[in-house]
Amino acid sequence: MSDAPIAIIGAGPAGLIAADVLSAAGKRVVVYERMPSVARKFLMAGRGGLNLTHSESYERFLARYGAASERLAPILSAFTPQGLRAWADERGAETFVGSSGRVFPKALKASPLLRNWLGRLRSQGVGIRTRTTWRGWSEDGALLFDSGEQVRPEATLLAMGGASWPRLGSDGSWREILSARGVTVSPFAPANVGFNVAWSEHLRTKFAGEPLKTIALRHGAREVRGEVMITAYGIEGGAIYALTSELRGQTPLTISIDLRPDLTAADIAAKLARAKRSDTLSSTLRKALGLSPLAISLLYENGAPPRDTEALAARIKAVPVELNSARGLERAISSAGGVSWDAVDESLQLRAIPDTYAAGEMLDWEAPTGGYLLQACFATGVWAARAILQRL
Ligand SMILES: Cc1cc2nc3c(=O)[nH]c(=O)nc-3n(C[C@H](O)[C@H](O)[C@H](O)COP(=O)(O)OP(=O)(O)OC[C@H]3O[C@@H](n4cnc5c(N)ncnc54)[C@H](O)[C@@H]3O)c2cc1C
Repeated sequence: MSDAPIAIIGAGPAGLIAADVLSAAGKRVVVYERMPSVARKFLMAGRGGLNLTHSESYERFLARYGAASERLAPILSAFTPQGLRAWADERGAETFVGSSGRVFPKALKASPLLRNWLGRLRSQGVGIRTRTTWRGWSEDGALLFDSGEQVRPEATLLAMGGASWPRLGSDGSWREILSARGVTVSPFAPANVGFNVAWSEHLRTKFAGEPLKTIALRHGAREVRGEVMITAYGIEGGAIYALTSELRGQTPLTISIDLRPDLTAADIAAKLARAKRSDTLSSTLRKALGLSPLAISLLYENGAPPRDTEALAARIKAVPVELNSARGLERAISSAGGVSWDAVDESLQLRAIPDTYAAGEMLDWEAPTGGYLLQACFATGVWAARAILQRL
C-alpha cells in the first residue's frame, strides 16, 4: 500500500501540471501512468510545432470552446494564456507569437519543456510510476492497479485524456469504469479530424501532402479561412478541423473551397478578362490570380472548368468538394465527449465519487486547433489541483 497522499492518474499535460501545483504547495504526489514513459501525446503534439495557446483577445479565445465556454470561463480566467506563457517561461521554454496569433515555445518542440518540467517535479518530490494502469476501485474504495496494488490516497485526480490516438495511451477505456460508478460520460466522437475524399488519380498522385494556403471553406452560412492539406485519402488541416463538430455525422456532404477569399467574384472576373488571350487557361489562372498548381488542378476535379469568365470566377469562389466520411478517433487530434459537466461540481470534483476530481481532455469540451486544447488541459489541471489544496 502506498502512502501517497494525492494520486494523479495519467501523466499528460493536465495530470503533470496538477502534480506541479500540488507538489509546489508541499503536498506529496504520485502520478500513475500506464505507458512506459510520460506525456506521449504532448510530445507528439510538439512534432508539428507545439502550439501551446493563442494570443487573440480573451473574449474570442473563450468563444472557441462553444457550449463548454460557460463552465470553462472561470477556469480559464484563473489560468489564462498569459499565465500559461509565464509558466512555460519559468520552465525554460520562452514563447513567441506566430504570424497567425498562435503561441509556440521558441524551440517549437515539446521535449525541452518536458525535460525541464520533469526535473522540477522530481525536485519537488513527485513520484512518477510508469507502466501502471489504473483499473478502478476496490469495494472499499481503494484505487486498483493492474499490478494488484491498492492505494488509498487523500484525494485522486483523474487526468486520463480523451480517446483520440489511442496508441499514445489515452484510449477512453476509463469510460466504462466511471459509468459503472454513476458518472455520466458523453460518448466520444472525433474532433479536429480529417475527411475522406475520392480525389482523382491525378490529384492524389501529384499533390498528396501539399498544402492549399489562404483559402476559405464554406458549409451553409459557415466560413472558415485558413489552410488545408490535401492527402491521398482526403483532406486534413486547421480549416477543415474547425468545421469537424458541425460536419461529422452529416457525411456524405459537399462543402466548397474559395480559392481567393480576398477577392470578390467580380474582381476575379475583371482580372481574368484583362489576361492575355494567347495564354492557356492554366497560365492565366497562375499569372492573373496567383493560383498554385494544386489550386488549378482542383478546378479540374469536377470536369473542365467553365470557359465563360463569370462562370469561371464563380467556380474559383466555390469549388465543390464531396466529403465522404470523417476519419476515425485513431487519427483525430482530439476527441469530443467525456465526463459530463453535470457530473462534476464547480471544483471539478465528481459528484458521484467524493475526493475524486477530473481534468483535461477527459472532460466534455471540444475546441479547434490553435492552442485551445492544451490551454484548457493545463487550466483544468491547475483548477482541480487548487481545489484539492483548498479541500485538504
Ligand atoms: C498529433 C497531435 C497533435 C496535437 N497538437 C496539439 C497542439 O499543437 N496544440 C494543442 O493545444 N493540442 C494539441 N494536441 C492535443 C493535445 O495534445 C491533447 O489535447 C492533450 O495532450 C490532452 O491532455 P490530457 O492531459 O488531458 O491527456 P493526455 O495527454 O491524453 O494524457 C493522458 C495520459 O493518461 C494515461 N492513461 C490513460 N488511461 C490510463 C489508465 N487507466 N491508467 C494510467 N494511465 C492512463 C495515458 O497513457 C496518457 O499518458 C495534439 C494532439 C495530437 C494527437
